Amino acid sequence: PAPAAAPAPGAARGPGFAPEAARQDVPILHRPVNGRPLVWLDNGATTQKPRQVIETLAAFYATANSNIHRGAHTLAREATDMYEAGRAAVAAFLGAESPGTVVFTRGTTEAINLVAQTWGRADLGPGDEILVSTLEHHSNIVPWQMLAKERRARLVPIPLRDDGGIDQRAFADLLSCRTRLVALSHASNVLGTVPPVAEMTALAHRYGAKVLIDGAQAVAHFPVDVQELGCDFYTFSGHKLYGPTGIGALYGTPEALAAMPPWQGGGNMIDSVGFDRVTFAPVPHCFEAGTGDISGVVGLKAAIDWLTSFDRQAVAAHESALLHYAQQQLATVPGLEILGSAPEKIAVLTFTLAGHDPAEVAGWLDRQGIAVRAGHHCAQPSLRHYGLDSAARASLALYNTSEEVDQLVAALRQLTERGD
Ligand code: PLP
Repeated sequence: PAPAAAPAPGAARGPGFAPEAARQDVPILHRPVNGRPLVWLDNGATTQKPRQVIETLAAFYATANSNIHRGAHTLAREATDMYEAGRAAVAAFLGAESPGTVVFTRGTTEAINLVAQTWGRADLGPGDEILVSTLEHHSNIVPWQMLAKERRARLVPIPLRDDGGIDQRAFADLLSCRTRLVALSHASNVLGTVPPVAEMTALAHRYGAKVLIDGAQAVAHFPVDVQELGCDFYTFSGHKLYGPTGIGALYGTPEALAAMPPWQGGGNMIDSVGFDRVTFAPVPHCFEAGTGDISGVVGLKAAIDWLTSFDRQAVAAHESALLHYAQQQLATVPGLEILGSAPEKIAVLTFTLAGHDPAEVAGWLDRQGIAVRAGHHCAQPSLRHYGLDSAARASLALYNTSEEVDQLVAALRQLTERGD
């Protein structure tokens, strides 16, 4: 099959959005859990998959499976075309300059490690500074911490305001000619905060710093245009975007990627190899050593096609209405407190319930078929900002409904009324 361009947003289904249209496509939402219909509110951890993705994966293995970029036979060519169509779909989805700006990785974590270990090792020296916000997931902290230790650079946290937004004045004060990189979440997985990353990028660039944006929690919720954001790097994971696990992408500007040394060595990333010298394949292939997750790329394209077949502005409006409804309803549960109230936020509701441990809350909800996550959410600094080690989190997606929010609220109310 020839590479296909990603469809225009909303092209396939027309304007407007009703969650039922999405629910019909997602088989797992129709299974019972503990005798009740599943209410999946753990979308921040991973999203459920539409049959379009599941069937595409099965069809790939049933009809087109082959390794790519080598082997002059029909299936190798077909699989290669499908893989490169995936790259073109990701580029279109992110508003990138060209497919050549997209590197496939295992996910956000690997994409950030790739930048830290190539750009970072080559360009960072003693006394240089990396600014990371206190909102970050551990995957946007630890790789920089390891790099800073190795290169004798400094990792500098940007503090938060009380509402869970990034303190912009502190950010401006921390920037200096020593700042080499600013690493920012496009949406927090704990507080839901959506920081003004375009403005922050423009400010960081005035100091000559590079900017990496972690879009793991953003891309499923609102349209992203990396050229409008002006960032140097952007990362995301397929599995939080209704796609398969094990696949994700790194976007880098053509200039940033061209200046980076390759990362892992092996097959696929070279032009020629001798014992005395090696020449590398061009960007982006020089960053993709070994056999990648070919079916994952094909499945990721199916997920992007599925999501962009909906009117994305209407999807965002649905999720925002659901967030406001959930905030109102949860506030009526005695002893419940929601963390984070920044004006711009995605539909993530992390909360504590007085007298009940978060693990107990999640266990109680699970017995009613409602899946939420409890713990530190791999973002300990943002919880510590509120003096906490652990909290429960309901994270919503396009297929969630106000009835599901009602079920969550009713179950939490029952827990507070049990009196044991
Ligand atoms: N960044 C954010 C904001 C996340 O929420 C997550 C996962 O929860 C990650 C990064 C890491 O994503 P992955 O485990 O898919 O690499």
